[in-house]
Amino acid sequence: MSSKALVLLSGGQDSATCLAIACDSGVESVQAVTFDYGQRHRIEIEKAQTLVGIAGVPIRVINAGFIGELSQNALTNFDQEISQKPGELPSTFVPGRNLFFLSIAGVIARQAGIERVYIGVCETDFSGYPDCRSAFIESAQRSINLAMETRITIATPLMYLTKTETVQLMAQQGKLAWYAEIHTCYEGQVPACGQCPACQLRLKGFKGAGVVDPLPYQ
Ligand code: ZN
Repeated sequence: MSSKALVLLSGGQDSATCLAIACDSGVESVQAVTFDYGQRHRIEIEKAQTLVGIAGVPIRVINAGFIGELSQNALTNFDQEISQKPGELPSTFVPGRNLFFLSIAGVIARQAGIERVYIGVCETDFSGYPDCRSAFIESAQRSINLAMETRITIATPLMYLTKTETVQLMAQQGKLAWYAEIHTCYEGQVPACGQCPACQLRLKGFKGAGVVDPLPYQ
């Protein structure tokens, strides 16, 4: 295994779990990258910074505002409603997001001699995002390596885990307290609303694992 790892950190539950896995993987060093792409919840960037503080790893915040400017979606266009119509991608889908993120991460990894890049994508709790599927990740890994003459592995340890299994994994690693720092709520409320689809999914994961969510709710 490569002796260095890079973690794409969104400040959410899955990427925080990836950070924990990377820190526990026995590599020599871990670093993180987060993207400022004009997302609805700016708190995500602060949460990412808090998490790396706890983990004791450095982070780079990359300005990727152009991603939000390129398309109309509910994550970067605050007037647009968060919704999903049958047969359509959710309004929160940001076209190209993970492709841009991974390409940028590939350049950072290449510069720093990193051969393992973690991304917390997951097919199991299927959100309808095509750039979270394993077929895309395999293709992105191949493209990045062809484009940059690198031997980067894109690690997706959560790809086939349920939210409950993710919570269990963090419990095993003794890092459940990290989840108290993570913003999940789609409504962006602090304390979290506990009602929106994101809060519901999170709470279901904790319930399934028989673990109390450390996050304050309304
Ligand atoms: Zn919520």
